[in-house]
Amino acid sequence: MNSTENTSSPSPSSSSSSSSSSLTMELDKDLHVTFIEMMYHLLPTPYESQEINHLTLAYFIISSLDFLRSLHRLDKHAVADWVLSFQLHPTTTTTTARTRQFYGFHGSRTSMFPPDQNGVLLHNHSHLASTYSALAILKIVGYDLSKIDSELMLTSMRNLQQPDGSFMPIHIGGETDLRFVYCAAAISFMLNNWSGIDKEKAKDYILHCQSYDGGFGLVPGAESQDNKLAAILTGGATYCAVASLQLMGYIEDNLLSSCASSSLIDVPLLLDWISQRQGTDGGIQGRPNKSSDTCYAFWIGAVLKILGGYNFIDSKSLRGFLLASQYKYGGFSKFPGEFPDLYHTYYGFTAFSMLEESGFNSLCPELGITEISAMGV
Ligand SMILES: [Zn+2]
Repeated sequence: MNSTENTSSPSPSSSSSSSSSSLTMELDKDLHVTFIEMMYHLLPTPYESQEINHLTLAYFIISSLDFLRSLHRLDKHAVADWVLSFQLHPTTTTTTARTRQFYGFHGSRTSMFPPDQNGVLLHNHSHLASTYSALAILKIVGYDLSKIDSELMLTSMRNLQQPDGSFMPIHIGGETDLRFVYCAAAISFMLNNWSGIDKEKAKDYILHCQSYDGGFGLVPGAESQDNKLAAILTGGATYCAVASLQLMGYIEDNLLSSCASSSLIDVPLLLDWISQRQGTDGGIQGRPNKSSDTCYAFWIGAVLKILGGYNFIDSKSLRGFLLASQYKYGGFSKFPGEFPDLYHTYYGFTAFSMLEESGFNSLCPELGITEISAMGV
């Protein structure tokens, strides 16, 4: 999810400030379709370093076309076949091998290795984030997810859940935090099967991540420890927390229009934290003392959408910030004056969707794809 942001900018940012003077202040949808279509056919060279996240990059591209109502420009069957080719299938029936692996999707071709002479996959890097991206793309292109061997995928996913309720992203270890709880919840929701997750434990983990100031950290107690951990108290973590609770059925739709005090989480405190995130430039920051950033128009905006409080956002000034971050040849940058990248372009589109821009499909905030695709229409 948020993990691709730090490496997502394909272009040097130096000397880019002067380009802001040529920014247009109208949304040019056709230009964005051309920009994304170009990415669909060939990712520019600077994305080579992100090859390990190939499926996630593909998710940004395919889902962008969906938001732009331009899915007809791609071959949906070819996309589905390509995505399915990343799924890990067991090559052995031995119990040991089956229980130790996670049978999800690899992030890229370079992380897929052939089995050894005994048929054991020693290099399984199927990953929760890649699996989320794969299933999201398949839903977008209209693939029937009931055709997937979800039983083995979910049984093996359960092994990734830790005693505290968090998830490892991959069977050989890795960081455990809210991002992967979200992936597990979204995967279970899309497959309509919750056998791969202990929801009660996951819920408890999420509740422990809410900070004294209302926002969420990626791990419990993030606000009270060193600076490195404090730095991960972000809008992204808050989105993962609230969206996961929504997907698991622990918070009701449009909570703010009902009785907020009945919620598991401290909603008034959360709203207080969120209400301080929109800056005077109209943009939204991920945490205090940071610049406004296009992607947080999604991470924070989607939380408000889920809770039924999007009217807390000053839509007009947010729109102005986003338009100032639109690049003259298509795409959106992190903030005005930078070159665009795929990650911020995608979240720019989701933001315009929430702002009900004409010509955009509506967002399903908890899944991060369009409402039409989420419903399987
Ligand atoms: Zn960002």
